[in-house]
Amino acid sequence: MRHASLKAVLALALTSLLTLAGGIACDRARPGSPPDAPSLSVVADTRLVVFAPHPDDEVLAAGGLIQQVREAGGTVRVVYITSGDSYTVSVRLEQHVGGRPTGANYREYGHQREFEARAALRILGVGAWSLTFLGFPNDGLTRLMSTYWSERHAAYRSPYTRQRRPAQSESFIPDTEYRGEDLTQELAEIIGDFKPTIILVPRPEDQHADHCATWFFVADALGDVMRVQPRFHTDLVNYIVHYNSWGVEDDDPVLQPPEDLDAGVSGWLTVPLTDRQVQAKRTAVHAYKSQMDAMGWFLDAFVRRNEVFSRPPLPQISLPITHSVCEDFEPPPSRTHKK
Ligand SMILES: [Zn+2]
Repeated sequence: MRHASLKAVLALALTSLLTLAGGIACDRARPGSPPDAPSLSVVADTRLVVFAPHPDDEVLAAGGLIQQVREAGGTVRVVYITSGDSYTVSVRLEQHVGGRPTGANYREYGHQREFEARAALRILGVGAWSLTFLGFPNDGLTRLMSTYWSERHAAYRSPYTRQRRPAQSESFIPDTEYRGEDLTQELAEIIGDFKPTIILVPRPEDQHADHCATWFFVADALGDVMRVQPRFHTDLVNYIVHYNSWGVEDDDPVLQPPEDLDAGVSGWLTVPLTDRQVQAKRTAVHAYKSQMDAMGWFLDAFVRRNEVFSRPPLPQISLPITHSVCEDFEPPPSRTHKK
């Protein structure tokens, strides 16, 4: 009973926050959120980088925030760690393959997702020159954090695309291969060069192993940058895409944070979207035609009147790691096909 009335109060508080037209507010009404919790600051000087494990994650999590940064005159960069090329069900569908897809089918499918990403981000006001496709192996990132970390081991080979390295044109650093330290080095180069004021990255609790691994790689790279540039400061912010049935368990216009995840160091950050931003986000989501064909119900669930983020404690992560930290999660059956 007490829980129910508390929820009603919280819902009311959140609704009043959402009446702020297009502004960015911190959900201060939630327990664990200190009264002086800072909100996300979006100004003309904002430099936002979104690290997306796969093309579509950036729009699902932050399609509204990306628009707000652009509308404020800020700069947005999106870095795709993989091109999402290992999603076999969708490869068959999009490439019209009856049997087992070939390496070429998977690679072609990855290019299709890159093409869709450019179309989606154009709708949000971000040009193709602001997108970086690193071309690391979809469904292989956790292996790079441990076994395939350094040159002491042969580079990882994707069982899907059959590649051991990104296409040359996608590599920042020459001779990049599918090794963990190569990925950390590329991410550190991007962060050190772009100098983002906000970094958006998945939470480690995200139940897709590539998402969890993306957190570890970005945190490792950020540590490298801060050792070389001790004065560098950024606002490190987390998003979530895969967490049990979160996002698809209701069709409330307001997206609530997952109940059993902690709110981070400054409370849940709720970003309200204007009607126009919601509509543009929906159009951008639908530009991912391959994903809409395979699982439109999941993508549509992220088009709401707000987006939800949190801030992690300052990470102290140093790769490689010898034990698995990402594969312990058990994705729900309805989500195992999502790449
Ligand atoms: Zn993803």
